[in-house]
Parts: sequence; structure tokens; C-alpha cells
Amino acid sequence: MTPPLIALTASSTHATGARATPRVAVNQAYVRAIQQAGLVPLIVPPSLSPHQARAIVDSVAGLLLSGGEDVDPALYGAARHPLTQAAHAGRDTTERALVDAARAARRPVLAICRGMQLLNVALGGTLVQDLATERPGALVHPRDDERTARVHDVAIVPGSRLAAATGDLAFGVNSLHHQAVDRLAPVLRATAHAGDGVIEAAETGDDWWVLAVQWHPEELLDDVQPWDRAIFAAFADACGGAP
Ligand code: MN
Repeated sequence: MTPPLIALTASSTHATGARATPRVAVNQAYVRAIQQAGLVPLIVPPSLSPHQARAIVDSVAGLLLSGGEDVDPALYGAARHPLTQAAHAGRDTTERALVDAARAARRPVLAICRGMQLLNVALGGTLVQDLATERPGALVHPRDDERTARVHDVAIVPGSRLAAATGDLAFGVNSLHHQAVDRLAPVLRATAHAGDGVIEAAETGDDWWVLAVQWHPEELLDDVQPWDRAIFAAFADACGGAP
């Protein structure tokens, strides 16, 4: 059987200096995670027109929205918080078009960190722009630990797609985000929370397979615990890959 193609979103590096060359870039951990799940990564540049985004989605079995820059607050009607990073307009435009196309074509979507935030905004939700200043009682979510460190627990909603995928209702996760979902998009429901109430996962409740997580499962694949590999296995299964 031909393994399914997965569109993997990328960012671009900012060129500085006279001889610097702008590059399309994505953390290799995503590539490895997709391949380990029996899928083929197709890296998508952050510069697609809506027409090109539809062409990509038509050609793949699923979409992985990767982590990265803060989403432009103008896209959810908010003024920029001083700690919100500069927006990457091309990436925001590209990924919103990919989400629209994936929704229309019912392609499975796995959304990670910024990917979860972008997905929520693309579907009509809003974000907390900086947890430390806007939710003073929150845990420290933008951690400086190793990317593989499980630094806080999440509680999973029983009966959710995430609970079925991981086979567990509580486990530790890494945490590398200063923003989070605020108001969920109408088509999404929260399926995991941190101890401070921050939404750590969301999914759809209908026939469109969507799983969004605020942590980075792609960094945890070598862990003895199966939870994070199981997320990619569930995505592969939704995309028609070999179990
Ligand atoms: Mn977190």
C-alpha cells in the first residue's frame, strides 16, 4: 500500500545581513514523527494562495499544523499585546486557507501548539496573548526546560478522541507556549486542561477528524510512555495509514 501523504506546515527564517538567504524551515522532530507513524511528510511553504492551499489539500490524506510564531491578533479582533511576537502574515494566510480547505474536504488535521491556536482562530475562536500577564494565577507554560521535559499534567475529558487515542485520562506533558486558546471556536470542544484551567487540547465532535494539542508530542516519541506516539498513530489511522 502506498503510504499517505501528510501536508506539514513550515515557517520561514528571517534573513539578516547582505548575503543572508531566506529559508523555509520546520523542526525535524515533526518530520520524524510523521515518518515513524508510517506517513510521508510533504513540507508546505508559508506562502500559498488559497488556490494553492486547496491544491495541496486535494493531494494529501491529512494536514499537520506545526508550532511556531504567534498568530496575528487582528485575525481574532484583538489589539496586539506588547509581548505578542511579530506576525508572519504569509504563514497565517497560508494556514488559514489550509484549514478552510481541509474542513471542506474533511481531511484529518493534527494541530500542535501554534497549530492549535491557528486552528482555533481560523475556525472563529480567540487566544490569550500572554498567559503570564493575562492569567496571573496560571502555571508557567513557557518553560525553559528541555523540550522533552514533562513539566505539568493534563486532565483528559473521558470519551474524547484524545482519551481514545492515548488510552489514559491524565499524564504529564511538555509546555513551550506563552499563548493559549481563550474562547474556543464553535466547532471545537476542550478535551484536556492543565491544573490551572488552561485548555491543552481540543477536537471536533463531528465527522471531521481534528485533534489539537497545546504541548509538543513530536518531541516525546522516545519516552517510555506510549501517549504521544499514540496521538500520531491515531492521526495515521484517521489518514488511512497502516495501523
Ligand atoms: Mn502547557
